[in-house]
Amino acid sequence: MSDETPICSAKGCRAAAVWVLAWNNPKIHQPERRKTWLACEEHREHLSQFLGVRGFLKDVVPFAEWREREEAEGPSEDSGGGAPAGD
Ligand SMILES: [Zn+2]
Repeated sequence: MSDETPICSAKGCRAAAVWVLAWNNPKIHQPERRKTWLACEEHREHLSQFLGVRGFLKDVVPFAEWREREEAEGPSEDSGGGAPAGD
């Protein structure tokens, strides 16, 4: 299987991701660095709020559009990483 199905980053959620939340924690990341969480339709608001209240959220982009951006800008450092919301 080479077909990667992006999965929502919300805890316990196995739904296909349709949104990319780009975020940055200024305490541990370079300003231009972007971490990404994936979100399904249902969790987009929850996850973006989690990041938003901390001032981390930079961008919310449809997954397809994010892929196009990445292809245009070259490979990203990484994606995901860090514990998703919902402790
Ligand atoms: Zn979800």
